[in-house]
Amino acid sequence: MSKNLDQLRNRVDELNLELLSLINERALLVQEIGRAKETQGVYRYDPVREREMLDLIKEKNNGPFENSTIEHIFKEVFKAGLELQSDDHRKALLVSRKKKPEDTIIDIKGLKIGDGTPDFVFGPCSVESYEQVATVAEAVKAKGFKMLRGGAFKPRTSPYDFQGLGVEGLKILKRVADEYDLAVISEIVTPADIEIAVDYLDVIQIGARNMQNFELLKAAGAVNKPILLKRGLAATIEEFINAAEYIMSQGNGQIILCERGIRTYERATRNTLDISAVPILKKETHLPVMVDVTHSTGRRDLLLPAAKAALAIGADGVMAEVHPDPAVALSDNAQQMDLKQFDEFLEGLKNTPFVRV
Ligand code: PEP
Ligand code: MN
Repeated sequence: MSKNLDQLRNRVDELNLELLSLINERALLVQEIGRAKETQGVYRYDPVREREMLDLIKEKNNGPFENSTIEHIFKEVFKAGLELQSDDHRKALLVSRKKKPEDTIIDIKGLKIGDGTPDFVFGPCSVESYEQVATVAEAVKAKGFKMLRGGAFKPRTSPYDFQGLGVEGLKILKRVADEYDLAVISEIVTPADIEIAVDYLDVIQIGARNMQNFELLKAAGAVNKPILLKRGLAATIEEFINAAEYIMSQGNGQIILCERGIRTYERATRNTLDISAVPILKKETHLPVMVDVTHSTGRRDLLLPAAKAALAIGADGVMAEVHPDPAVALSDNAQQMDLKQFDEFLEGLKNTPFVRV
């Protein structure tokens, strides 16, 4: 009796292995079909074809399994095949962890972004004058930080709002960077300005409104300069990752992703900080991830808790806006910190166990 049981079990083992090899053989074919569909631009999921396959299988089913059970089992096989196809596609992305398991660390004037210790970017929303930027630079420097931000080209919702000082603003940033030995980061909005930006900036920012400006992404990918890419106002994580891929596909892998909130129905904050995007991006890509607490919350009272949350969840850095006199700022005057609030913000961060400020 026990010998018989052993024999039966051995046969089950053999059949398991046969099934395994058949399932994998099927998977290889499915992958091949996926690639063929991709070159033809055909959508992968084909319900009509699935229905035909299921009907044929049920027609040939002689039991003892019920048709409903067989349908369930094969549906799982089909689903796994479909997932394999899209997985295969993602695997190919240069920005993905699958392609490069180790973290990318970006060197900005000796500062290592993504090395495990958080880094900070502070500065005004817009560059308004040399004095204004220099005042913030002095505070940033005095606190021991290295990165200064300031917008020279401002993509504003209204065409009648302050549009930025343009190249003049870049010159101010460069001058301040040299005088205070800081690294400067500023947004560029048009591909034609990328080359100029290389001479003035240490990091080129691509803003939320331009996350899918593919020509701009390609131009940013063609230069040897770190890029800070912001998530689009209504971009999915997949779209965000693909935007980064546009840059990297042109040869520039020095990319910092920046979660800056997305548009939802919630009106209590300017945008909704998608905090879970941080670990997802860290898991899916090998790129450093920062969180912009100013544009995501749009509220001064939320800058500190949002920054703590960002760092606790694994962000490589935080960006926040600081202005000598926010009340008279030409943009974002509701959420920029003044220098006293900047002090308080940093004090608040010091009390968090996971941050070394
Ligand atoms: C900015 O950082 O100056 C800015 C405009 O941010 P965003 O593109 O995220 O709105
Ligand atoms: Mn701003």
